[in-house]
Amino acid sequence: MPRAHRPSAEFPAHLETLYREFPFARSFADDPVSCLRPLATDPRSAEASGVFLATLAVGQTAAIRGAFARLTERAGGDLATAVRHATAANHGRLLSPFQHRWIRGDQMGYLALRLRTLYASYPSLEALFLEGLDAGDFAHGIDALARGLRGGAGDPPSPPGYAALFPTPLGAPRSPCKRLTLYVRWMVRPRFPDLGLWSHVPAGELRVPLDQHVYWIAYHLGLTRRRTRSWAAVEEVTEALRRIDPLDPTRYDFVLCHTGISGDCPKRRDLAVCGPCSVRADCRLWRGRAAA
Ligand code: SF4
Repeated sequence: MPRAHRPSAEFPAHLETLYREFPFARSFADDPVSCLRPLATDPRSAEASGVFLATLAVGQTAAIRGAFARLTERAGGDLATAVRHATAANHGRLLSPFQHRWIRGDQMGYLALRLRTLYASYPSLEALFLEGLDAGDFAHGIDALARGLRGGAGDPPSPPGYAALFPTPLGAPRSPCKRLTLYVRWMVRPRFPDLGLWSHVPAGELRVPLDQHVYWIAYHLGLTRRRTRSWAAVEEVTEALRRIDPLDPTRYDFVLCHTGISGDCPKRRDLAVCGPCSVRADCRLWRGRAAA
């Protein structure tokens, strides 16, 4: 059994220093959310485009931004327009040909059709998310969103692999459901770099989008002991961060994520890089080691 590695009493102050000194401007330009902020003045466009962007959030950030730009171009410059034009007859061709990793244009066309159908019943995807949240907790909100995006009985058959793009914590607890969790963070948090378009979901309810970078550093800082990126790990990391900021537990997510993406954290013990790291005293790799 590995020895427990828990955050120290000084950890909140160390994390705050990491946050305060982080070069947001550098990493914001690299982050997919930078594609959405120009749309924030048109909430419907940002909300619908954000679903496509989050669904494409697989792989490196530059590739994700490039895939989103190509898909938007294919939609005539505005994915909300593709949503408006999606029909049961044309969805298979609407955004084809398109490919990003294993995600295909026919799946994106079906997503446009699903969004059009949902917008016929809901004024905003926030209302769909709230149905789940009010029935249970954040996981139920993600579940409602995922089920709505997948569609079901009575809907046109979805393309192969489509439903698997939207895992839910209730149906696939081994998945961190990172993409929809990230999407909801973009929509809810009213502070930079997020858009704050959904005003009825408290930021305190958000969960951390546990990508591989956030998981690595969270594990090494003792925010979770779990060795897999499961939904249980999402809850554990979020709870640890909620103890530091109960009203905004995902406040640190962007910084933890881009500390890994940027290479600020080498994910190994390297004094030249780790020397100035604000959380070095808390890092598992430096436990019991002299500072220099
Ligand atoms: S001490 Fe080094 S390895 Fe640990 S979190 Fe900081 S930069 Fe990463």
